[in-house]
Amino acid sequence: MPSPLSQLPAVHVLADAAGDGSPRWALVEAARRLIAERRAALLAGTATDAAIEGTAVARLAAELARPALRRVINATGVVLHTNLGRAPLAAAARAAIDEIAGGYSNLEYDLVKGERGSRHDHLRALLRELTGAEDAIVVNNNAAATVLGLAALATDQEIIVSRGELIEIGGSFRLPEILRLSRGILVEVGTTNKTHPRDYTAAITGKTGLLLKVHRSNFAIVGFTSEVAPEELVALGKQKGIATMIDLGSGALVDRPTQRAWGLPDEPTVAETVASGADLVTFSGDKLLGGPQAGIAVGTKAAIERARTHPLMRAFRPDKLTLAALHATLALYKERRLAEIPTLAMLGKTGEELRAAAGRLAAAIGDVPGLVVALAQVTSAVGGGAMPTSELQSWAVALSGPGADAMDRHLRERGIVGRIADARMLLDVRTLRAEDEAVIVDAVRGMRPG
Ligand SMILES: *Cc1c(COP(=O)(O)O)cnc(C)c1O
Repeated sequence: MPSPLSQLPAVHVLADAAGDGSPRWALVEAARRLIAERRAALLAGTATDAAIEGTAVARLAAELARPALRRVINATGVVLHTNLGRAPLAAAARAAIDEIAGGYSNLEYDLVKGERGSRHDHLRALLRELTGAEDAIVVNNNAAATVLGLAALATDQEIIVSRGELIEIGGSFRLPEILRLSRGILVEVGTTNKTHPRDYTAAITGKTGLLLKVHRSNFAIVGFTSEVAPEELVALGKQKGIATMIDLGSGALVDRPTQRAWGLPDEPTVAETVASGADLVTFSGDKLLGGPQAGIAVGTKAAIERARTHPLMRAFRPDKLTLAALHATLALYKERRLAEIPTLAMLGKTGEELRAAAGRLAAAIGDVPGLVVALAQVTSAVGGGAMPTSELQSWAVALSGPGADAMDRHLRERGIVGRIADARMLLDVRTLRAEDEAVIVDAVRGMRPG
């Protein structure tokens, strides 16, 4: 009898047998891997048959050809989930990207004068109107806006910050290190829970270049506390001839009455912070604003000019797709089409809406043998390291029966990310889009009772 090893198919023959559902390179690579695996199994005596199914090759090839970065369904209820890409973009923003992406654009070209223009010109007018600032620039993210602002306003000078605001944003973004990186000299004042105007006053020297205030966006200090309001800090700065910068982090563009009417988190708005008179205010494009990843700095003409002409600007400058998406998102604010901004729409969903959506999803899932499908009232978070004390009441479809870990894995393999609580799998409906329902129903109905 011939050895089964000699019966192993040739790579190209097996790849051909897998059909043409995937690119040729993936079919060949899949065939190569499966043949190698089988050869090892035959040699180890754990397999006796050399035949390999074309469908197995097709399946592996499809997996190999799938993009590494792909769409997932966010069933966590965390609206600004940093690991899941933060803000989903509005249709208008996606259309704007599409319009610019495929061709050339006037990114740095002045069509009226027929000469070189600036990429910073495109968003200035909208940002000025929406924030009340004199001028604005956009960079890749708010971390970059903060570094740039500090470098532009206070290189080799002392920067005074409250000890209660020396934050870590996540990963390696820690304010003291960022200050050092920007060649600023950190001067800490006050205590963790209380900082008074006199603390700043006492720390001002001939070398002071900046008064910095950082919004505590990802944690809260409660109890016996006090901090210096932006207006007070700005007044002190003006009196001493020292610039003031405020890192807002999230940066809400909707006014306070609208925040309340929509049930949005109570956040200092960019406009009110600008109105305090600060020289520079920085915030993210993809937190509460609901746009693309970007950092925005708004402020006085002089401060923005220093940031724009700083050498770091070249390293931080945003690309045309970011500018296109941000412009379209800001235009929705200007036109008061807030419901079209997914972040705001998701945060603004009412309890009744969420409960009804959870009920619809549970009904669409229907009866699955071995699975208990129930509705659960849950608490979700805004996310994105934003608004730590805001808790959003939400509704979820709760699955129990098979082990929660097994359900979680099954769903993740299908690109659905939920969360486990009390041995149940929770699918929070706040962050679901209409087209997600069919995918979830399919995946849940495909669960085997464990
Ligand atoms: C989120 C945040 C940042 C960083 O913003 P990214 O856009 O994530 O780079 C900086 N400062 C504060 C206060 C923040 O909340």
